[in-house]
Amino acid sequence: QAATDHPLLEGLNEPQRAAVTHAGAPLLVVAGAGSGKTRVLTRRIAWLIDERKAHPGSILAITFTNKAAAEMKERVEDLVGRRARIMWVSTFHSSCVRILRKEIDRVGFKSNFSIYDAADSKRLMTLVLRDLELDPKRYQPNAVLHWVSDQKNELRDAEDAAKEARNSFEEAYASAYTHYQRRLREANALDFDDLIMTTVHLLQAFPDVRENYRRRFRHVLVDEYQDTNHAQYSLIQQLCGQSFEETGTADAEEAGERVGPSELMVVGDADQSIYAFRGADIRNILDFEQDFPDASTILLEQNYRSTQTILTAANSVIGNNRGRKPKRLWTDAGDGERIVGYVSDDEHDEARFVSEEIDKLVDDAGVRPADVAVFYRTNAQSRVFEEVFIRTGQPYKVVGGVRFYERREVRDALAYLRMLVNTADEISLRRVLNTPKRGIGDRAEACIAALAERDRTTFWEALTRAADAPGLATRSLKNIEAFVAMVQEIQSMVEADERPDVILESVLERSGYLSELEASDDPQDATRVENLAELVAVAREFAEDPQPGPSADPADIEAGTVAVGLGDFLERVALVADADQIPDSPDGDDSGVVTLMTLHTAKGLEFPVVFLTGLEDGVFPHQRSLGDQPELEEERRLAYVGLTRAQQRLYVSRALVRSAWGAPSHNPASRFLDELPVDLVDWRRTAVEQTRWGRPDLTGGSTRLGTPTDAGRRNFSSAAMRADVAAKSKPARPIPSLEPGDRVVHDSFGMGTVVAVDGVAEKSVASIDFGSEGVKRLLLRYAPVEKL
Ligand code: ATP
Ligand code: MG
Repeated sequence: QAATDHPLLEGLNEPQRAAVTHAGAPLLVVAGAGSGKTRVLTRRIAWLIDERKAHPGSILAITFTNKAAAEMKERVEDLVGRRARIMWVSTFHSSCVRILRKEIDRVGFKSNFSIYDAADSKRLMTLVLRDLELDPKRYQPNAVLHWVSDQKNELRDAEDAAKEARNSFEEAYASAYTHYQRRLREANALDFDDLIMTTVHLLQAFPDVRENYRRRFRHVLVDEYQDTNHAQYSLIQQLCGQSFEETGTADAEEAGERVGPSELMVVGDADQSIYAFRGADIRNILDFEQDFPDASTILLEQNYRSTQTILTAANSVIGNNRGRKPKRLWTDAGDGERIVGYVSDDEHDEARFVSEEIDKLVDDAGVRPADVAVFYRTNAQSRVFEEVFIRTGQPYKVVGGVRFYERREVRDALAYLRMLVNTADEISLRRVLNTPKRGIGDRAEACIAALAERDRTTFWEALTRAADAPGLATRSLKNIEAFVAMVQEIQSMVEADERPDVILESVLERSGYLSELEASDDPQDATRVENLAELVAVAREFAEDPQPGPSADPADIEAGTVAVGLGDFLERVALVADADQIPDSPDGDDSGVVTLMTLHTAKGLEFPVVFLTGLEDGVFPHQRSLGDQPELEEERRLAYVGLTRAQQRLYVSRALVRSAWGAPSHNPASRFLDELPVDLVDWRRTAVEQTRWGRPDLTGGSTRLGTPTDAGRRNFSSAAMRADVAAKSKPARPIPSLEPGDRVVHDSFGMGTVVAVDGVAEKSVASIDFGSEGVKRLLLRYAPVEKL
């Protein structure tokens, strides 16, 4: 019936047209990357409005990010005009908020409910755990929240969770869940996961509401379906009104549900499922045909994004995952350029390579900087790229992440250092006074401020004489005294001209800042630990090589002509951080701006030129996934996502040495590199060449790359100082010497098995598998771990 020459079907292949024009039963479009799934979804919306005369208000389209939603809406408006405006194109969360604002009074909330973000939720959970008098060592707010989130993603409310608790541990978690929900309700607030769970429960419990939305949304379309979790899946079922586990059919009859099921189309690619850690369930896509027995499936096999070389490479990598449906993805774009590979000395060399290569592409190949994307596995890796781009004046933007020096934990750490150097820096001092929480609350802070005012001294002076402060509680006084003692001890290191990296590590340890993050189960806190490791690496480089890069002369450092003190370090950071504030593109034209982002953020996007960096085992695939088959497969899907973003040119790179916690780590090549067909990669520089050209022998895992003389000169004082500080700070606990296979016990994670150990002595970092708690990477010097 559909005219094949309809303008909305132009530029579509046969199966794509079939998907756009399909009517009736649920439709699954499964296809590899770049085969036009998102394009088909967008066109279908336009088709529904234009050709099938669907009212735009009867369309609900779900995308994974708000940005993707905005783009899709714009695209549909281009196709069918402004009338498309009233349709709902949004994420799961935003759609639920809209539904709940209208309906939530049914379940006893007021429609002006607040939405708690992660920080709010954590604050609330902390209170709950305190009320329940649960041992804070065993029951960390983030760990409990993570568990609660899993429950909610599975649609288990507190009552269900309590019923299903299998041991005293889970019982305690379940009771925390119950109290947490009670407090949320009292506050008329919902957390993020509640938004979806509450909507589903509401639709299940009230047939008339459900009916209302089913009548309204005659068309439901979902992009990136492979990343939906169970709660989101159920929401779709509720809204569409057909499923294998149709809830309350009798109720529905009573409510006079006459309206037939809505038309559902979902598009996705099981090979791109990268959110299992948030409960996404790949089975949602694999089982679609079972769940919706009358469903049709359309496969798309032609890729329109990439060259054959890029596609072959991506297919070859993903082919190593087990239990997947093989796909035949082809393109008629031709082979195109070969993939370029580069083995760098270290992360700076890698960043320099990327930057120089971009310059060449711009000069010789007509590439615009905006055509280029640089991908990495973790946020912290953006820092070296940012620094090179700042130095060379190349505008860039970091997508989906905060710029390195603006990150909260980095600013906190720098605030500590600033106030150590300059106690008059009241802003920095007050920023860290109760960070992490050490029982110096707002009231206590106000008492000290009043004392400083009365005696006309600095805030720091007042802190040192806190006993004189009127109205200060004894408990606060004790906490302030402990804080002052800690600061003074570290100050003596500064006076002794200790290296910035050593001071910084000391600060992170003594302040309790690091251990709080390390004990947390929140993935965000793991990221924060990585960022702090990165900052320590920055400080170490500065100490060893004040002008990072191949040009620095160790002789200058030795001769003392280059300053390496803490003050100098802060000055340098301040300058970089300030340059960081330069807006991306002064004239609003983005064509000169290179894009930096993590692989997770890159989903759904495409760029003519892609640099996939940090391809090292332990970086990507991530340390946590080594030795865990399902996690490793998820990393491989992430690699597939990364590779398939490239349209014309693809670069892969790795570093022989990468800094982490001030100790260089030597990671082997990523296994994903080995999975690329050899003949497709043009290695500009290999590891063999790299060592032949006179680089240090990097085979010894514990080689320190510092300047020996420099280290020697400082060795005595710093070692003595460290011993001194350690003796004062806490009972000396030897760093356990561990080997893979050893059994250990951790204060909060319980029993575990060592998977790997990197670095030596104080720098040693162990990856330990704590079973259901996951694999943790812990700096043994700080981690409360004991060998069994
Ligand atoms: P991903 O899995 O990465 O999300 P996708 O399957 O959603 O990819 P799209 O982003 O929709 O793929 O399409 C990839 C590219 O191919 C886009 O630039 C799109 O405009 C183009 N494209 C899709 N179909 C066609 C077609 N029939 N003719 C020409 N170009 C097409
Ligand atoms: Mg897409």
